[in-house]
Amino acid sequence: MKNFKIKNDYKNFVKGLLSLNYLVIAPKYENGILKFSKIKNAAEILSPSEYINTVSSTKEYFFPQTEPVIKFTFEGKEIFLKDVEIGKKPKVVLGLRPCDAASFSILDDIFQYEYKDEFYFTRREKTIIIGAACESNDESCFCTTTGLAPDSSQGADLFIEKNNEEEYFLRAVTEKGERLVEQLIAEVEELEEEPKKNPLYEKIEKQIRKKIDLIEAKKWLDNNFENEKWEELSSQCLSCGSCAYLCPTCHCFDIVDEVNYNSGVRRKNWDACQFDLFTLHSSGHNPRDTKAKRYRQRVMHKFKYYADRFDKTLCTGCGRCIRACPVNIDIYEVVKEFAPLVEQN
Ligand code: SF4
Ligand code: SF4
Repeated sequence: MKNFKIKNDYKNFVKGLLSLNYLVIAPKYENGILKFSKIKNAAEILSPSEYINTVSSTKEYFFPQTEPVIKFTFEGKEIFLKDVEIGKKPKVVLGLRPCDAASFSILDDIFQYEYKDEFYFTRREKTIIIGAACESNDESCFCTTTGLAPDSSQGADLFIEKNNEEEYFLRAVTEKGERLVEQLIAEVEELEEEPKKNPLYEKIEKQIRKKIDLIEAKKWLDNNFENEKWEELSSQCLSCGSCAYLCPTCHCFDIVDEVNYNSGVRRKNWDACQFDLFTLHSSGHNPRDTKAKRYRQRVMHKFKYYADRFDKTLCTGCGRCIRACPVNIDIYEVVKEFAPLVEQN
């Protein structure tokens, strides 16, 4: 793995990136909300020390909230189909925290399970992910429970860290990342030695909520599909779906046809298991007709069903659902109800 020091300041590095033919997406304030947005000039960029994390994740750039998948027209009883264009401009998504970069290995698995989603993968293949280590945390973060750390580079092509001299350096994690650095050689300098681990990241790791034993959590879930706790844990839920929409790993969608007199479009729209219509059958029967059943589904999917199928959790501990929940439902506290903390030295 090659390492490169950013020669001047971070903004200069971004200037170099913008001079290449990429669409650059990075954390930016829009109407007071920090979200991943298009960056037009280096002055708009926030350095990794200027934010904890964004309100929404980057998933909308790979799996948009709504997108057409096919168009059609009618002539009498005949239907004519027309493919839709998938944006092909190469992108760089810059400044993702480890909890967001790691979400791609989860989404990659699901979007090629049984069927390969060309919409998602075309965007994935055209995008370079530049992650950034966390220089601070808040009380909602719990990435260490899911096996990550403030300086995990999993899922990134390039990863930005600070060395002990408070300078930023880049780790090339994949060949795709290394090819991008080669185009930015005026802004970086290759390091001969691996930089020493910055004690800052260890300090942050210790500040993060203690690790929950997810193996024990899964054992409890394996045996407690029916349990009165589900009623108690979900009683405050408003079924608003904010948790799923902001989550970097939630990926449920619905397919709808929007039809005019002689033409239409088939759309893929985000959906969420907390909505009561999500499982409503056309017969009128709804197998998840209570909040308890729907909340159980959310927790089971994250920490049991996904683990059964892919041997990993459908959660990276980013804490977004905790920050956003209007009634303070905290998924970390929920899981802690049925699993112990991991003993730490
Ligand atoms: S479930 Fe919550 S903490 Fe876990 S990845 Fe989704 S938003 Fe983040
Ligand atoms: S954000 Fe909170 S209230 Fe809204 S659906 Fe999720 S758990 Fe329920």
